[in-house]
Amino acid sequence: MLRNILSSNFHRAGLRRTARQLSSFRQPSASVPAADAKLFTPGPLTCSLQVKQAMSVDLGSRDSQFIQIIDNVRSGLLEVAGVTESDGWTCVPMQGSGSFAVESVIGLTPKRGEGKLLILSNGAYGERMAQMATYYDIDHTVIRCPDERSVPQVDLVLETLGKDSSITHVSMIHHETTSGALNPVDMISEKVKAKYPEITFIVDSMSGFGCFDVSTKHIDYLVSSSNKCIEGVPGFAYAICRKEKLLAAKGNARSLCLDLVAQYEGLEANKQFRFTPPTHALIAFDQALKEFKAEGGVEGRRARYQHNFEVLKKGFAEMGFHPYLDEDIQGCVITTFLFPDDPNFNFEFLYEQLQQRGIVIYPGKLTKADCFRIGSIGRLFERDMLMCLDAFKAIMEEMGVKLPVTQIKPE
Ligand SMILES: *Cc1c(COP(=O)(O)O)cnc(C)c1O
Repeated sequence: MLRNILSSNFHRAGLRRTARQLSSFRQPSASVPAADAKLFTPGPLTCSLQVKQAMSVDLGSRDSQFIQIIDNVRSGLLEVAGVTESDGWTCVPMQGSGSFAVESVIGLTPKRGEGKLLILSNGAYGERMAQMATYYDIDHTVIRCPDERSVPQVDLVLETLGKDSSITHVSMIHHETTSGALNPVDMISEKVKAKYPEITFIVDSMSGFGCFDVSTKHIDYLVSSSNKCIEGVPGFAYAICRKEKLLAAKGNARSLCLDLVAQYEGLEANKQFRFTPPTHALIAFDQALKEFKAEGGVEGRRARYQHNFEVLKKGFAEMGFHPYLDEDIQGCVITTFLFPDDPNFNFEFLYEQLQQRGIVIYPGKLTKADCFRIGSIGRLFERDMLMCLDAFKAIMEEMGVKLPVTQIKPE
């Protein structure tokens, strides 16, 4: 594409350039990447051209247009979550990747002796919460699933809460991106709150929000980021907070930059971020929210992702690959496939060959088995799924892998 732009500019400028003019003309292009890749990954993910183009302006942090954008983004996100300011909710954006916002919420758990966090983990992101708690010296306990194939069990959660009355906070992942599993957030939050209404319930809905419905009825914090299902560019994340809980946590934060209460108070006081805002990422997100609405909100977006997933699943099944997860917990955001049982299979070769064709996939993250992951989210459509499948098949044949494959069974 870049070459086309260059050559059309060329024609307009006339072809009688000297060699020196020509080389100085070409110079700036050296640092520009050749073309967009399609990212079959759960973040960073493929963004629309309009979202990227929206960023081609510079706005000052106090510019009234920018202040309006912050407002749009905050209220737009509450709308996606199905809550309002008057119902006692607020959206607090935080600079950084998704983990920054998760950490800003986890970091509000009261100090040791006054608060204890119960973390439900069935993958890398649950483990990351535990790591955050360790860094902040937050008293915590983790319920770990036997492997990434299982989801947190409500009975075990209630049993743990029954045995340990010092637990004040519970946190869990909505969609575990490690495996692609959809965790029963609504059911667990409802059962926990029914028995322990004082518990603060935290949900990392990073790759779930905007795609899967989630009830805010029994939760207090819902965290996601700019670059997941809403399809903005990376740069900030946000927590949708029950205001009462947020304000009660004032003074608990262990980090100045990640103090979510201070961030909220700053935004409320003068509508500005405390520190340099990710202006371009917010402008892009404002556009991404418009596209999200135009597609039909959560339902419309999920329909496209679900279709992408179905196309991938069918194509992979024809090559002998079946999703690692059982159907009842498999979401439509990312799919884990185990490696084929074939001596000619070489993941590095596959990865590089796909990349050369402009296709980026993810290696697996499972603790017990070798696997790869293909995402179906971002600005991707059926044609992209088919292109990915074609390339995948061609590379498998090039490697000499016999199709259909049989997959390596996990231990
Ligand atoms: C992407 C993601 C995060 C945040 O990861 P970052 O790399 O910090 O953006 C957290 N939790 C889940 C479930 C995710 O999918």
